[in-house]
Amino acid sequence: MINIGILNIQGDVKEHYLMVINAFKSLKIDGKAILVKNKEDLSNLNGLIIPGGESTTISKFIKKNDLFDKIKNSALDNELGIMGTCAGAIVISKDTGDSRVDPLKLIGIKIKRNAYGRQYSSFQANLEIKGLTSTFSAIFIRAPVIESVENNVDILSKYKNDIVFVAKGKILALTFHPELTNDNRIHKMFIERAGGISTGIS
Ligand code: GLN
Repeated sequence: MINIGILNIQGDVKEHYLMVINAFKSLKIDGKAILVKNKEDLSNLNGLIIPGGESTTISKFIKKNDLFDKIKNSALDNELGIMGTCAGAIVISKDTGDSRVDPLKLIGIKIKRNAYGRQYSSFQANLEIKGLTSTFSAIFIRAPVIESVENNVDILSKYKNDIVFVAKGKILALTFHPELTNDNRIHKMFIERAGGISTGIS
């Protein structure tokens, strides 16, 4: 049994929840999607998704609900996989360049909030992603850009010259919204990493 939590503070919670259930089904894996609001909800999770939304709000709530240390320690101990999408990627980064967001520092990346100008603040692009055999239709909404990565961080995808998807072991950070598509391959990839299983998805 694999348990994947979705941080239930703000943002695309329901979309991630449904996508996780859908991914379990297509992988034919016995798994559960769990909404996470309090510390107790973090027990027995293999992975936690931190959805997009507003990183300032999400980061405040993580502290207010006393989740900060438990998420951080479990992830750094490699007990808990984390997938941060868009604002979630900002929250798990090492350096946000914005003092209003106190990040969990789970992956060695420097990220810039709202990196695309107003006109270009939302767009869709087909991305080549390491590990997937065909392109992924990615939706960017007031997205950040990953400006630099440490040596131990794997770059999984770029949009033009911008780094948009990275991984370090069980930690995934992406600047777009895979939950807003019908394509569950990134959620499968996360379940695979967090659960320590191999399903040969592509
Ligand atoms: N602009 C948001 C932030 O900086 C992120 C947007 C999103 O998650 N779609 O927190």
